[in-house]
Amino acid sequence: MSLRIRRNPRLERIRRNRLHPEYTALMAATVPAIGPTGLRRINPHQTGFVMVQGRKRLNRLNPGGVGFATSSQPGQAQAKEKPLHSVTDPRGYVAVVMDLPGGRLSSHDRDVLGLAQQLAQAKDDPHAVLAIALGDVRETDLGGAGADRVIQLSQLHTEPLTGYCPELKLSILTEIEKHYQPAYWLFPDSIDGGADLGSRWAVQQHERAAVQAWQVNKENTVCRGGSQLTDWHRPTPRVLLLAPECAAPVEEYRYEALPLELTPPEPISATIEDRGPVSVDPSQIALSEAEFILAAGNGVRNWDQFHQVATVLGATEGASRVAVDDGYMPRHRQVGASGTWVSARVYLAVGISGAIQHLQGIGQCETVIAVNLDAGCDMVRRADLTVIADSEAVFAELLNLMTERQTGVSHQSDTADEGEARHVA
Ligand SMILES: Cc1cc2nc3c(=O)[nH]c(=O)nc-3n(C[C@H](O)[C@H](O)[C@H](O)COP(=O)(O)OP(=O)(O)OC[C@H]3O[C@@H](n4cnc5c(N)ncnc54)[C@H](O)[C@@H]3O)c2cc1C
Repeated sequence: MSLRIRRNPRLERIRRNRLHPEYTALMAATVPAIGPTGLRRINPHQTGFVMVQGRKRLNRLNPGGVGFATSSQPGQAQAKEKPLHSVTDPRGYVAVVMDLPGGRLSSHDRDVLGLAQQLAQAKDDPHAVLAIALGDVRETDLGGAGADRVIQLSQLHTEPLTGYCPELKLSILTEIEKHYQPAYWLFPDSIDGGADLGSRWAVQQHERAAVQAWQVNKENTVCRGGSQLTDWHRPTPRVLLLAPECAAPVEEYRYEALPLELTPPEPISATIEDRGPVSVDPSQIALSEAEFILAAGNGVRNWDQFHQVATVLGATEGASRVAVDDGYMPRHRQVGASGTWVSARVYLAVGISGAIQHLQGIGQCETVIAVNLDAGCDMVRRADLTVIADSEAVFAELLNLMTERQTGVSHQSDTADEGEARHVA
């Protein structure tokens, strides 16, 4: 019998389209399972949807996979105290070197920690997930993301571990290898540092790393290659560079995140000099790679003001299809199912209603902020933060605030709705 998973393109199409007449019936059939502790478990095969090229996408806005998150759902999930998972005497470790962009866990970090827990639990003897944080850390809940043990270093002797310093980081990883000899080394295969550090580490360890690995178990690994069109199967190596969504983040337990001791390695003289980031014009950044997007829809009237705000905020411009069809924005700036799928850390959607085709394109964004007059629209339901106000008033207020910030002088806005916009913002 073939082990190949057969896809059903028709069901996938319906699952992608919330407006399809059979959508509700299909999603109602995906009943969330209840785990042994009474908490709801995510079945990663039922959440999200499969993209056209066969790549699975997790639905981050609603892990249960049914409908859309409502504002009450996150609070309910937090209110329930999760049981503690502890590994008292670990016989081995699964090491995860986290990216921690801006000092916080990225969604990619959480996916990799989720996979690390799966690999640790697949071991015959007790293994702990060792989360390694190099640089400044602002994250307070590494245990909630799946870390049993933590090694955290913000500097090596007097050298800070911020910026680009792969040699210092490699010397720390070498020390960890010497003391703890992890069974696996996991890195997010990302531009935030994981791909670079993981590749260097694999070379140093004389390991042939799995890159863009998206399906991993203790025996086999599947990696994406050939412009995301080909799968490569191989035995699971010790060093893995993992694609986003390689596993679902942990949800059922909280973990101890106990600090582990590490004697800092001898100082080294680094040959790579970090000369700091190069400033780039945000309008030149491809939408799919932009970290901060200001997107406009049919609710934007003053387009000069929109471009001005994007410039002062340093945001990359995006648009809904209506804004593009009406000729206000070029086609390559369209976000959504028939435009570009984006994965910005912050997506600021102004005057966009949140049609399903648009929401599909922003499923990977970490934080969504909506500015809209309609408190009941789908974009507001999707957003983490909402401003119910007129787009022009909010733009004017943003321009004022940025000018104040740059000049240190307070400006009075003459917009009628300014008070409301400032209050809500
Ligand atoms: C096959 C197909 C593919 C599609 N692909 C895409 C795609 O890739 N991307 C995409 O975006 N769309 C796509 N669409 C179109 C999509 O269905 C919606 O029509 C479109 O996204 C709506 O754009 P909008 O939200 O800007 O406009 P509208 O739906 O008109 O919404 C405007 C919003 O602005 C708000 N508003 C109005 N005035 C103000 C104001 N003064 N201040 C603040 N808010 C205000 C309103 O409350 C409303 O929520 C596709 C459609 C089809 C059929």
